[in-house]
Amino acid sequence: MAKTPANTHVVIAGAGLVGALLAIQLGRRGYKVTLCERRPDPRTNGFIGGRSINLALSCRGITALERVGLADRVLADAIRMPGRMLHDEAGNLTFQAYSSNPEDAIHSVSRGGLNVTLLEALAEYDNVVMLFEHRCVGADLDAPAIEVEITGGESKRIEADYVIGCDGAFSAVRAVMQTQNRFNYSQQYLDHGYKELTIPPASECGVDPALHNGFAMDPNALHIWPRGHYMMIALPNADRTFTCTLFWPFEGSESFDEISSESAVLPFFEKHFADAVPLMPTLIEDYTKNPIGSLVTVRCSPWHKFGNTVLLGDAAHAIVPFYGQGMNSGFEDCRVLGELIDEHDGDFGEVIREFSKRRIPNANAIADLALDNFIEMRDSVANQMFLLRKRIEHALHAIDAERYMPLYNLVSFSNMPYADAQEVGSKVVRLAQNIADAIGLESGQTMSDAELSRVVAEYISKD
Ligand SMILES: Cc1cc2nc3c(=O)[nH]c(=O)nc-3n(C[C@H](O)[C@H](O)[C@H](O)COP(=O)(O)OP(=O)(O)OC[C@H]3O[C@@H](n4cnc5c(N)ncnc54)[C@H](O)[C@@H]3O)c2cc1C
Repeated sequence: MAKTPANTHVVIAGAGLVGALLAIQLGRRGYKVTLCERRPDPRTNGFIGGRSINLALSCRGITALERVGLADRVLADAIRMPGRMLHDEAGNLTFQAYSSNPEDAIHSVSRGGLNVTLLEALAEYDNVVMLFEHRCVGADLDAPAIEVEITGGESKRIEADYVIGCDGAFSAVRAVMQTQNRFNYSQQYLDHGYKELTIPPASECGVDPALHNGFAMDPNALHIWPRGHYMMIALPNADRTFTCTLFWPFEGSESFDEISSESAVLPFFEKHFADAVPLMPTLIEDYTKNPIGSLVTVRCSPWHKFGNTVLLGDAAHAIVPFYGQGMNSGFEDCRVLGELIDEHDGDFGEVIREFSKRRIPNANAIADLALDNFIEMRDSVANQMFLLRKRIEHALHAIDAERYMPLYNLVSFSNMPYADAQEVGSKVVRLAQNIADAIGLESGQTMSDAELSRVVAEYISKD
């Protein structure tokens, strides 16, 4: 019998952000999908996270959501962040726009809310079966099939035409692929971990609610407290709270190891994050109770085996969160896979081979960019030369948006493949640095934006 979507069975391990979006992509095209998730159904049991409470959604994620008609629904609950708000040790605030185009912004969304929205959207597809409390514990790559353990003890085998691992950074499907000949794999932990803390609504921390529409700080920014070898960031939530994430070394001076007792927390925060302390009435409790998460970069290749098993999202390419691109790149995986299905007229085996080939260089590029951006966020954003270079990048972008799109814009506000963005964006960074060197820090700092723009235009006209 000829293979059509209706008689092609795809089993997906993991109904997180990527697994759920992929199931929608396949469900819409008529595939018979079984989605197995180890956790209980978050639509009825509440979302059990374990990772960041909120996430920055940007162009690539939005484009993928548009393809399944969900972008407007998700953006309706999101909070626009058109720039960073830097907090120095004295509590001075500096806003840095992400782009010279005021339309450009990243958006803070709730991880749980987004996951539930995707699962709710799946309910309309009779061809998609969702199985919660079904943990994938193994895979048979020849069949293909997955082995699942149902909460309570029973185990079963689910056979399919194709197996897709969307089961996150510690993927069970990938673990089986790792036992195969010529499967490349690496994982690299950062020396830094993270801990989440909370800033409640203005009314609960003594801030006038009229100042920021009920928030304790300006909600339309990603707040950063850059402190050299560590930093804290805060993203707004729809309930007028902020979730702060402290990125800190595990060991050494000024680390999770060193600040481990209740009595050490407050003095440390008062010294380094003084303006945040009055906004964090539950600081000590949050700090002592909340776990420390680790940050890992996972690279592997190929992402498929035998043309019948493939990995998407963090299962294929977990990255550190400093470019806010982990979910966005996983959503882009779903879009690209969907496009390839359409291009290859449904020849799924060919689709996943091509997908793996096309996506791996891009995943490696964003993995590298995310590692680099940690240094930019925690350190460079407070460096005067860096700030001048950023102003020059914005001036170049305003002069010719197509030709001089800065790296951040290419990554966050475009769908250009990451590897191309890395190459094109690096050229703009180099050009901006050359202009900054030619102008000199002191005179650059005293120039108004209009003056700087004129000097930049003059420089490139001679270039
Ligand atoms: C602190 C932090 C901040 C972040 N911020 C951002 C951000 O701002 N923007 C951004 O784009 N990305 C961000 N990310 C990255 C983002 O969280 C991930 O890239 C994204 O969650 C990947 O989605 P996924 O579905 O591939 O994996 P996951 O979200 O890990 O989902 C995997 C799913 O599979 C299930 N599962 C796991 N194992 C099994 C199994 N054996 N059987 C069945 N089910 C299983 C899990 O329960 C889960 O539901 C951040 C990450 C961290 C740690």
